[in-house]
Amino acid sequence: MITPVLPTYARADLEFERGEGPWLITVDGARYLDFGAGIAVNAFGHAHPHLVAALAEQAAKVWHTSNIYRIPGQERLAQRLVEATFADTVFFTNSGAEALECAIKMARKYHAVAGAPERYELITMEGAFHGRTLATIAAGGQQKYLEGFGPATPGFPQVPFGDLKALKAAIGPATAGVLIEPIQGEGGIRVIPTEDLRRIRDICDEAGILLVLDEVQTGMGRTGKLFAHELAGVTPDIMAIAKALGGGFPVGACLATETAARGMTAGTHGSTFGGNPLAMAVANAVLDLALDRNFLPHVASLGLKFKQKLAMLADQHPRIIESVRGEGLMLGLKCRVTNTDLVQALRAEHMLTVGAGDNVVRLLPPLIIEESHLDEAMEKLSRACAALETSLDAETKKTGAAQ
Ligand SMILES: *Cc1c(COP(=O)(O)O)cnc(C)c1O
Repeated sequence: MITPVLPTYARADLEFERGEGPWLITVDGARYLDFGAGIAVNAFGHAHPHLVAALAEQAAKVWHTSNIYRIPGQERLAQRLVEATFADTVFFTNSGAEALECAIKMARKYHAVAGAPERYELITMEGAFHGRTLATIAAGGQQKYLEGFGPATPGFPQVPFGDLKALKAAIGPATAGVLIEPIQGEGGIRVIPTEDLRRIRDICDEAGILLVLDEVQTGMGRTGKLFAHELAGVTPDIMAIAKALGGGFPVGACLATETAARGMTAGTHGSTFGGNPLAMAVANAVLDLALDRNFLPHVASLGLKFKQKLAMLADQHPRIIESVRGEGLMLGLKCRVTNTDLVQALRAEHMLTVGAGDNVVRLLPPLIIEESHLDEAMEKLSRACAALETSLDAETKKTGAAQ
């Protein structure tokens, strides 16, 4: 019999009652070190007092009014995002996929209003993940997400990951732009090298097409920069963000230059909930924390320390971990065992992580962690690796005895 909750998720049998900073706590009081952060969402941990206060204060005033009227929180958040980034304008959404939908529509409209409506294709990279709407599963191009949902939305040719030659060759009269994640998250913490990102910017400029970045996972400080493209010193024309923008409150945004947004006039796009007063109050409070001048250096320095410690762990457990990848506090362990085995072994140690493509375990802690949390994480990681080695040894013994 089908469960009342549509069974589209393979859930772990684990539930939490409350959270405190980087900890999630079960009804029984068991404390789990949360290095998944709700998939890079809870960047400021759980129950951060500043975010709780912002939500409660706004909740007592007004939750929702509609985009029929001016929304002061939107104007303030947009102004702050514009000041902090390449962008001149911002559209607010409720999720990452919707931010991408806006980005895709905007890129198409940009060419359409210039008299080239045939330019509607966005070239993507293999291993991409852009969300679960019909357009974004087509953009991601992963068969497992497209299967059974009818013809894929047209307009998303894909090239192999990191293959700039193929990317250049794929540009034609139908190309509107290039859509990529600076670091693939779901794809397995696969980093586009900074020199490649610069080259892609040049390729787009030479072809007169747009660079659209999906920073839904990499954005809001995760890599030690406010946005990952800053590591390469280039800027996109359009950028989708979400995840950490609300620290757990559902909110996303599509940021763009004035030129890229030239087709998006009144009536061309909209959302009932997007940018409502409640979401804006929380996202503005998130920005208070993210724009604090000590915040990004803290993420960058902890990220470096964590990566060094993980490299040592990989050296100590070569049968479990092949390599360490990523930037800032967006790190991945490429595994030699099945990645889900490591996720489970860590869960047994009361540490939460997230699996990803390419047999990687993602480490995405809240960005407010301290060095002591890294030490706790390393102890749990060591114990989990040792436990997996013990079971590998037991297996070897068994097969040896059977021969
Ligand atoms: C999570 C994610 C999305 C989709 O966001 P939703 O809020 O789940 O719609 C899109 N792109 C990237 C890179 C993501 O990590």
